[in-house]
Amino acid sequence: MDRRNVIKNLGLGLASGTIGALGLTEKAMAQGFEAAKYQKATNGLPPIKITNVKAISTRPSGSGSNLVVVKVETSEPGLYGLGCATFTQRAHAVITAVDKYLNDFCTGKSADNIEDMWQSTYHSSYWRNGPVLNNALSGLDQALWDIKGKRANMPVYELLGGKVRIAPPTYTHASGNSPEEVADKVQEYMDLGYKHVRIQMGGYSGVSDLEPDFKKVGFGHETDNFMDQYAYLKGVPKMFEAVRKACGERVELCHDVHERIQPNDAINLCKELEQYRPFFIEDPFSPENIAYFEQLRGQSSVPLAMGELFNSPHEWVEPMSKRWYDFIRIHISQIGGITPAMKVARLGEWFNVKTAWHGPGDTSPVGHAANTHISLAVWNFGILEMHRTVSDEIQEVFPGAPYSGDGYAHINEAPGLGVDINEDAAAKWPIAESFPGFGRVRKFDGTPIRP
Ligand code: MG
Repeated sequence: MDRRNVIKNLGLGLASGTIGALGLTEKAMAQGFEAAKYQKATNGLPPIKITNVKAISTRPSGSGSNLVVVKVETSEPGLYGLGCATFTQRAHAVITAVDKYLNDFCTGKSADNIEDMWQSTYHSSYWRNGPVLNNALSGLDQALWDIKGKRANMPVYELLGGKVRIAPPTYTHASGNSPEEVADKVQEYMDLGYKHVRIQMGGYSGVSDLEPDFKKVGFGHETDNFMDQYAYLKGVPKMFEAVRKACGERVELCHDVHERIQPNDAINLCKELEQYRPFFIEDPFSPENIAYFEQLRGQSSVPLAMGELFNSPHEWVEPMSKRWYDFIRIHISQIGGITPAMKVARLGEWFNVKTAWHGPGDTSPVGHAANTHISLAVWNFGILEMHRTVSDEIQEVFPGAPYSGDGYAHINEAPGLGVDINEDAAAKWPIAESFPGFGRVRKFDGTPIRP
């Protein structure tokens, strides 16, 4: 095939004269680009532009969180998309980022080219990789995928390659104040069909009957919590032992260390838990202590999950390439949406790192839908975190909200992400004006514990 035919086949057209090595005139090039535009228009998908980007906030009963969703409106009447931008602890900062900066940056630009919009928005503040701007970017990105699916008349998972499983298995949380209470709760979930359950005793801090010295002298705030790290470390293996004894070997058990203990204690705990065959142990270290994974991997084969606090590729690329953990637990709105999450998932495939997207209550139903669409389409999926119930109030605000309840995540087959928003219903549930701070926890002497 000669150059002329190659150019024709690329849809660029050809005219007389020559320029450079391709043998084209400037006039011909201009005509070619016009032809390419025309060709796109006649494919039934005329270009559309973003006409407005706004944040919608709501805190419906049953969510317990300040949910923020971005609505992207387009030049096609009635066509809009929704994306999750929920950072419940700093919701007002995200709303400002969306309404004051993102709207201005995006209005008038193409709604078609998602990667291009993601890249140009990501760099638009120069400083980047922070949770506020990443959440705002996620709202835009997920909304553009929603729009793309609506235009294609396909659910987003179809655009990502189609289903590779019937539905993504989920885990839910069993908590109690004694090993027996936790075991009873696990059995309840197993009876509902759950094959995976996360087990915690006394929340993230464990159970202690001691009064800490900082409380005796009135140090800190009266609502501050105490973590008896010795009692926690002794209690977790007892909890696993009781659950295995009561519930058998088949159920898959997860546990979240939540980064609250010293690295060497976490390594010893993982070694001790191996005999109970955990599905994964989550966040044994804080992101600041990530280098300890090398020592942990050298001493224990217990499966590990990490990443809900990650913001930046600098935090996950190298550890994944070193196979330091088995599950990547990124909070998708925290890294900027579906576009970067798909790259993380694909990276993991080559290093045997499976996805276990963070899916707590402070993820909007739109965000849970995004988690589920990706989890339907990605081969190296591991598990999905999703609460068991969706309240009537949440369903009224978010028609089409995903749900679990039988150990699987369920979405509807509507085009796009499949979740809408009732703005009048959302307005009935205003978000909190302030946030008291993420669970302040202290040691005996009052030293704050991360996170
Ligand atoms: Mg966690």
